[in-house]
This record gives sequence, structure tokens and C-alpha cells, in this order.
Amino acid sequence: ALVGAVATLLALAAGAAAAPPRADTIYYGGEVWTGDPSQPTAQAIAVKGNRILYVGSNMGAARYWGPRTRLVDLRGRRVVPGFIDAHIHASMAVQLVYSVDLYGLGALDKYLAAVAEFAAAHPDLPAIRGSGWSNTVVPGIGPLASDLDSVVSDRPVALYSEDYHSLWVNSRALELAGIDGSTPDPVGGKIERLPGSVSPENPYGIPSGTLRENATDLVLDALPDYTVDQYRHGLRYFQRHVAGPLGITGVFDPLLRIGGNAVEAYQQLADEGLLTVRVRGALALNPEDDLATWLPAAEAERAKHTRALFQTNAVKFFADGVVEGHTAWLKQPYADAEEYAGDPNYAGVALWDDEALADAFTAVDAAGFQIHVHAIGDAATTQVLDALAAARQRNGAHDWRPGITHLQLVDPADYDRFAELGVTAVPQPYWFVKDDYYTYLQVPYLGLPRADYEYPMKSFFDRGVLVASASDFPVTIPPDPLDAIQTGVMRWFPGLVYEYPAPPSLEGVLWPEERVTVRQMLRSFTRNAARACFTDDVCGTLAAGKSADFVVLSRDILRCPPQDIGTARVLMTVFRGKVVYRD
Ligand SMILES: [Zn+2]
Repeated sequence: ALVGAVATLLALAAGAAAAPPRADTIYYGGEVWTGDPSQPTAQAIAVKGNRILYVGSNMGAARYWGPRTRLVDLRGRRVVPGFIDAHIHASMAVQLVYSVDLYGLGALDKYLAAVAEFAAAHPDLPAIRGSGWSNTVVPGIGPLASDLDSVVSDRPVALYSEDYHSLWVNSRALELAGIDGSTPDPVGGKIERLPGSVSPENPYGIPSGTLRENATDLVLDALPDYTVDQYRHGLRYFQRHVAGPLGITGVFDPLLRIGGNAVEAYQQLADEGLLTVRVRGALALNPEDDLATWLPAAEAERAKHTRALFQTNAVKFFADGVVEGHTAWLKQPYADAEEYAGDPNYAGVALWDDEALADAFTAVDAAGFQIHVHAIGDAATTQVLDALAAARQRNGAHDWRPGITHLQLVDPADYDRFAELGVTAVPQPYWFVKDDYYTYLQVPYLGLPRADYEYPMKSFFDRGVLVASASDFPVTIPPDPLDAIQTGVMRWFPGLVYEYPAPPSLEGVLWPEERVTVRQMLRSFTRNAARACFTDDVCGTLAAGKSADFVVLSRDILRCPPQDIGTARVLMTVFRGKVVYRD
């Protein structure tokens, strides 16, 4: 049949003298899912320059053939729009290049061995950074400075937990940051202290070596940032080894700093034509920032980044922390509140007060910034929706597309408010599993049945909420959208769920009622994510006039059994008409 199609294509092309524009490349003979409701399926894509000239039948594409047109036989493969990750810290890939990697090591002695080895291999680094230790390995107050001191004591060491909400440091780092027994917990943060030394008054207790949430800034602010060159290197590593092979052509980088080296690195790559992903970024605003000085600085930063491929038009807020750090803000107390906090009513921490949050949303929205908020606990999400409603009331309704990301626990009474307020839900489907976090942290900290109602998804789709999926890389490594699509469909993933029987048993499936379809998951990584990033005018679907951003897959994920979706590979990634990855 394919040979016939080629013959027909060439025959028609030869006779198509009147066809005006000539394609640079015609991809034909594929199974194209366009994401465009007016024409959901196609066989061929004709590309000229950066853009799509035509999407449709093989015969229709032939009209765009010219003597210099390259023909690419898709051999019946599934083609989808380039994946867009609506919350991915691409610039933090620098940490994969210049830091010690603890992901998956799973034991304290292995963490220490990796740190010792890295420090020995990098004698010139003024500080040792890293990430990837797990709260499941060292629950409670977390890992100790004294353990790190035994392997590195001459330089500061600062190691993020795999969720990036805790920092494990050595004594040199505590010293550099001036943290000791007289240092109180900062607002929205916690300095873990040795058991038995803790007191409500000064001295508050001996810092044990783990810092949570805002307390991590005490050390991070005292360490030198990566240089612009290191960020460039990290971004190029990300493009080549992460985005290209995974079919990612668009990213929303949610945590950039005004005047930081990361934004400068992005801008340089954009100026030099070296970006192979379309980047939208958010500038972080914290409760302690003074809006009167922060906002003009953010506007000045935004004005510097106006290239098609790199803009910083959003502002990132944190409404709370994470369940595994006991810092997510919940409507009901933690199941282990008494044990953890000595207070049976302990329900986590609000990082903003209601009025301040509403004022900040109103101000950044009035200045034309998009709002993007981290909310994990149900109380946090309600507060954010209330503050968004207040901002809309004051500024008037307009096309603002605010996003709330993570959404681990959501009060069902809030689902409809997302749609009413035009708020995008930005979940991480990779986390929709009964993995070790569920077993060792979420069940004990949240209790049952609450831990079984994490991460709603279908509820959002059913109510017409815009859902844009994301990885939160480097929290999720690798940020493979095909894994996320499978997980969104099954809410189970082979290798991650150990303690329960495999499907069709529902025992190991996290909240089976929230499973969604492959097409819904695909939309969440393409059309919806483009809309969430305000890039839907140029990408997110395959249609004439749009940027030629698409992915060729090794398996037909719309027809294979759901448990095989994650085994599909990206064979080719095309970004703005150029092949940026080929298997
Ligand atoms: Zn994040």
C-alpha cells in the first residue's frame, strides 16, 4: 500500500504545475494525530521554512511538491505535535552537569559515597551541590550534617532532596550561612534540629543538617550561583539529551530569577539561534519581596526577553510546601500531627496571608503578567482560587490564563471554580502512582482514605477545565511525556508500584475513577499546554501556518495496549521545520 501511495504521490506531483508554494520537505504516509479538532487525522505534512504549509492526505500534500522538495516516508508511523511541558525547570539541568547525582541510590551510605567521589573528582569547585536524596530513606528530621562532614568538611555541601523542598547541608554550609542554635525558623521554613535540643525559645535547638522550604534559602543565598556559561552548558545538555530524545519542543520554566544567570543564558542562546525548544519563563515572587520595587524590576526583565523563542511573561508564586516535608497546607490536620509537631491540629503552613496574596495577584495581573502558582494542599488551592477571584474582581475579566500546578489534594468543591475563573490545572501525571512516596510518606502523613484521593485529573476534564501536563523536571527524571501519558491513562506504572498486584487488579491503581483517555493526555501535552503558555497561536496543533513542531513515534500510542505506551520511543523530533533529534 505504501509503494502505491508513493507512486500516486509522485505521479500527482509531476502533474501539479499550478501548485503555488513549494515545500522544503513533505512527510507522507504517516498516521498523524493533529490535535486540531477541525481535522483530527492526516497522512502527510508539508513543511516550508519554519512552518507547516499543509496537513492532510498524501494526495493533497503532492500539490506542494517541487523539484527540490525532500520526501520523507513516515512508513505508517504515529505522528503527534511536539510535546510541551507546562512546568519544567529546564535551566536546572545545569545541576545534572555540575553536581552530584543522588537519584535512585536509595541508601545513606550510597549517598555519602557518591558525595565523596564527586568531591574528589572536582577539587576546584568552591561548593559541592547536588540533588536526589529521598525523604523515604531518611524520614523524620532528615539526614544529618555530621554524616556529610565525615566525607567533606573543607567546602560547603548543599544537596537537594528529590522533590527540591529540602536541603541537606554539612557544617561548613551551616557556618557560611550563619545558622546555629540561635537562628529561629524563617517564615515559611523549618530548620530541623537534633532531638532533645529543641526549645520554643532561644536557643531553639542544634541544627541537625536538614533545612525545609524557605529555610533552604539561608544556605542557597550564601552559595555562589552557577555562571552564565555553566547555565548555557546545562541548557544545551538539556536540549540535546533530554528534550530532543523525548520529543519536547516547548517548555515553561517556572522559577527564574530577575537578573539571574539563567535568564542571561537563555537570552544568549535565543540571540544566537541555538534554542531547539520554545521557552516561556516565570519570574519568582516571594512573600518577603517588596512589590513596589519588585514589580518594576520584573517589568524591566520582561522587556529584555522578547524573542519568539524566549520570553518571561509570567510570575511564579508558592502557596505552600510539600506533603513529604509536612509543609503542604491542608484543610484537615496531618494524620501524624501530634507526633510530628506536638500539636494535634497541625495542618501545614500557608506561605502567604490571604490579603497579601490577593494584592500581589492583582498587581502582577494589572501589569500584564501571567500568574503561576505552586499549590499542593487543599487549603492552599482554595486560598489561591479565592485570591484569583479577588484579583479578577478588581481588574475585570480578561484573557489571563493563570495556572495552578501540582494539585495533590483538591477540595471537590473547588473543581468548578477552575473553569469559572479560567484557571489552568497543571498536574504532573508521572506522580499518579502508588509508589514508595505513597506507601512511606503519603499514607502515614495524610492517612487513609485521604491518601487515596490524590491528584484529580478526570474531574478537571469533565468540568471543562483546561488541563496542561508537566513533569516538574528535575523532580521527575526523565521527563518522558510518553510515560506520563501511560500513567495518566492507567494511574499505575510498571516498576514504580511494588506492593500491589498489577492491573487489571485496581488495588495498586491510585484513584482509578480519575483515569483519562490517551487523547485527553495527548491534548494536555500539546494543544492545552500551548494555550497554557500563550503559544497556541504558533504551536500545539498541526495545521497550516503553525510552527512545524512534531514527533514521530515508534509505536502507535492511540492503538497499542495502554501498558505499552511507555515503551514507545521518539524516532524523530522536528522543531520549526528542522530535525533536532533522530533515533
Ligand atoms: Zn517546580
